[in-house]
Amino acid sequence: MADGEGKTVNNGKRVHILVVTYPAQGHINPLLQFSKRLHHKGAAVTFVITKFLLKNSPAADRPPPFPVETISDDHDAGGFLSAVSIPDYHERLERVGSQTLRDLLRRLDDDGRRVDAVLYDGFMPWVLEVGKEWGVKTAVYFTQACAVNNIYFHVYRGEIKLPLAAEEEIKIGGIPPLTAADLPSFVKDVKSCPGFWDVVVNQFRNIEEADWLMCNSFYEQEKQVLEWMEKKWRMKTVGPNIPSMYADRQIDDDWEYGFNFFKPDGEVCRKWLDGHRKGSVVFVAFGSFSALSVEQMEELAWALAQTNSSFLWVVRASEVAKLPPKFAEATADKGLVVPWCLQLEVLSHESIGCFVTHSGWNSTLEALTIGVPMVAMPQWTDQTTNAKFVMDVWRTGIRALPDRTGIVRGTTIADCILKIMDDDEGKEIRRNAAIWGTLARQAVDRGGSSDRNIDEFLSQLASDLNI
Ligand code: UDP
Repeated sequence: MADGEGKTVNNGKRVHILVVTYPAQGHINPLLQFSKRLHHKGAAVTFVITKFLLKNSPAADRPPPFPVETISDDHDAGGFLSAVSIPDYHERLERVGSQTLRDLLRRLDDDGRRVDAVLYDGFMPWVLEVGKEWGVKTAVYFTQACAVNNIYFHVYRGEIKLPLAAEEEIKIGGIPPLTAADLPSFVKDVKSCPGFWDVVVNQFRNIEEADWLMCNSFYEQEKQVLEWMEKKWRMKTVGPNIPSMYADRQIDDDWEYGFNFFKPDGEVCRKWLDGHRKGSVVFVAFGSFSALSVEQMEELAWALAQTNSSFLWVVRASEVAKLPPKFAEATADKGLVVPWCLQLEVLSHESIGCFVTHSGWNSTLEALTIGVPMVAMPQWTDQTTNAKFVMDVWRTGIRALPDRTGIVRGTTIADCILKIMDDDEGKEIRRNAAIWGTLARQAVDRGGSSDRNIDEFLSQLASDLNI
């Protein structure tokens, strides 16, 4: 018998899943949401983050409804930003993370909370090895799009000849032809960031051994990619994993992820947005990590000052110094600049007319689910490929293209905003955004494609464990 729907509870015994996250906001958020869903369906979940993050993140208004435990990345005092290099950080995360994960599994066992399965972020394939050693089931969860995983998988197998020439196109199963500009930045320029190149490519080093493979996406969204992948992979889509109140509303009061690296200005944004009419505001946010150049910030600032629309711009504290002098004061009659917001609450406010985004996968899924059209300004990693899909596959936005120096000019940004906000020109994109929003919400709703996959995972796990 289940608490929720899956067969995860029997005579008081519940399947206990240890969810191990990669220490980045864009990775923790979807795994938190997925964990809430497993919990809602009757599984016992223990959520694992690094010691540094647990100690240094502001308290959430709505913390997750399950225990949070820690492992160490060997940077307990300063986290990722205190690492001497990205490769060194990942080497220590794996080495010390594995040791402390073993300690945690042992401690939970001693406390009578034996773990039945570990579910982990694909960026940390070493968790599977620890799980196997411990004799538990293993499930890998990919936080990026299936298309992006498929590209990295081909790179891992040496099936893409790199680098691509400027005009060359590659064809990978189920994905529209891609030029170098559409590929993830680590693939377009393999030497650009060796510390992350290793991580994204090595996600596949042991996937054959995983009991389940899951992706934060939904079947209808990447149907062609999934149909092709089905021949080689057992990938199941379980997304979009965003707070339930913005999707299927099955989990009561689930309005927030419940874990922020930065303190959000919720009240300030809410009040300001309430004073604006429907569809009139441009929301601008570049996620938790992207850093724009000073020149790019100036171009974007110029574009926002020029358009007729009001704007709400998230500029993280580490980016503020790059704003043109007195920009916030000079544009106070039409704009609000905040260091961090509750992005879902903002996106779903009726005053929002479009989202200027770096096209991080979570931001993309959130806008798609809520039905907000996008101006895509990808910076690096998978964002370029996400932007390609937004523009050419789902057609819910426009990509603002950089010039030959790599900067997206203010005139280009203003032009894209105008196209989307304009009553006539933006009609088609707004219509597509509404259609995709409905499909996304249906996927996680009762009986939807992702909902069925989650039930199947839990039933199979319970049956394998004789629960
Ligand atoms: N986010 C937020 N408030 C902000 C900006 C971003 O809550 O002011 C959240 C956003 O909703 C998303 C995550 O931070 O869930 C960013 O993830 P994404 O994959 O879009 O980008 P990343 O930070 O990984 O580059």
